[in-house]
Amino acid sequence: MEPKWKRSLLELLWPNRCPGCNALIGPDRAVCETCGEKMLLEHDAVCRRCGKVNCICSKKQLSYDRALAACAYADEAVAAIIRMKQSQNTNFAAFTARILAERLRHGIDFGEIDCVMPVPMHPSRERLRGYNQAALIARAVAAELSLPCREDVLYKDKVGRAQHELTAAERANNVDSFQIHDIPLDGQRILLCDDVLTTGSTMSRCAALLKQQGAAAVIAAAAATTVPHKSSPSKTMSST
Ligand SMILES: [Zn+2]
Ligand SMILES: [Zn+2]
Repeated sequence: MEPKWKRSLLELLWPNRCPGCNALIGPDRAVCETCGEKMLLEHDAVCRRCGKVNCICSKKQLSYDRALAACAYADEAVAAIIRMKQSQNTNFAAFTARILAERLRHGIDFGEIDCVMPVPMHPSRERLRGYNQAALIARAVAAELSLPCREDVLYKDKVGRAQHELTAAERANNVDSFQIHDIPLDGQRILLCDDVLTTGSTMSRCAALLKQQGAAAVIAAAAATTVPHKSSPSKTMSST
């Protein structure tokens, strides 16, 4: 714990704000109490195989084995993801990582995990933003679970068009830009992290690559999963 004077100084210089509503919050908090409650998605609300509220398992061949999500992609969570992408407020990563880690600790369905990986971002985009938000989530989950976070395995070789500009069919093809280094992953059980789970195409493509390298299982963990019948999230912010 930092000395009190240092914390007060930090608060003064960099006031901590809730990523959901932008209200000032204490230095030890990641979100305000109201947003924290509103953003949370019931653990049982999503299918544990595909990670969606409206199960897509029968409609789609998914390469990942299990999925979980901390929040519904709506309202405050949409605002929080926008702030994570545009305003350098990364509190949402810390908040959702804690929830995901807690669920993984108690989820008998998920089994043992050997390492955590983020869905990669193209280096040029990462330079522009300063970070890959999926990596922030992955690192925070890995730290919570005392697991290694590996960012040297998956990569993106083309900037490509942003997934949110594409239709669902185009998204499925657009995932070709994800690639994997020739690193053996024999028998590894991998937790793959991303900010938003929409159609599952991105997670599925990355999981397929991991399995090509010998991974035994891939568990997809998303900070938020898109949900039906909620106030429509800003289209420009949706991911894959
Ligand atoms: Zn708030
Ligand atoms: Zn399902």
